[in-house]
Amino acid sequence: MRTNRKRFNFSIPLVMMFILTLASVVALLSVGGDETVYYFNQLSFIPDPKTVCIDPGHGGQSSGATGEKGKRLEKDDTLRLSLLVRDELEKRGYTVVMTRDSDTDISLEDRCKIANKSKASLFVSIHRNSSTGKASGCEAWIHSRNPSDDRLLAQNILDSLSLVGADTSRGLHTGYREGAEKNYYVNRCSKMPSVLAEIGFITSEKDNTYYDENIDILAVAIADGIETTLLEMNGE
Ligand SMILES: [Zn+2]
Repeated sequence: MRTNRKRFNFSIPLVMMFILTLASVVALLSVGGDETVYYFNQLSFIPDPKTVCIDPGHGGQSSGATGEKGKRLEKDDTLRLSLLVRDELEKRGYTVVMTRDSDTDISLEDRCKIANKSKASLFVSIHRNSSTGKASGCEAWIHSRNPSDDRLLAQNILDSLSLVGADTSRGLHTGYREGAEKNYYVNRCSKMPSVLAEIGFITSEKDNTYYDENIDILAVAIADGIETTLLEMNGE
């Protein structure tokens, strides 16, 4: 009797601890928010060091930003450049998973699912910026937690773009354009280091001319930034 009672008493704190832990997890998940999603996304994710996910922004019904009096669509620009980045990386022996490779509308959620399922080591979402003013130049966005590998990826891409003459003076940003507390969906829900890169303004004549005349060079530069990051992350 004594032994049994002792064993029973011993298990009570364990059960309590289990319930408390479970309650904490449930509470965290129910509170939600960027931080929680981000934290749980980082758990138990083992990426493939030779796989990269490229995400051409928008597509299908989602045209994204427009330029040249509505004739130029962000979704077309992003796909054109992304396919060239894919080709360049494949030439270098990497496996590239595309969230889309044609003019189709993929939800942000599905883009992240594709990336996470692919076990890609890096996620690069390619966009073009827009402004009602005269803004121009490239910029890169990473998660507001400012993770070191994400920063490395974004900075390497910006540095490579700068080397080929692209204007990168707008630089690297964390969070989301419309508030420091939020993040771009693709940065929040991808499990691997990620960046959302705005490759110039579709509303800038100067940027569009540069984009069209140098698209092959831009693709090589982005591939360079990605490859440098992979090598640095793997200690090579
Ligand atoms: Zn966009």
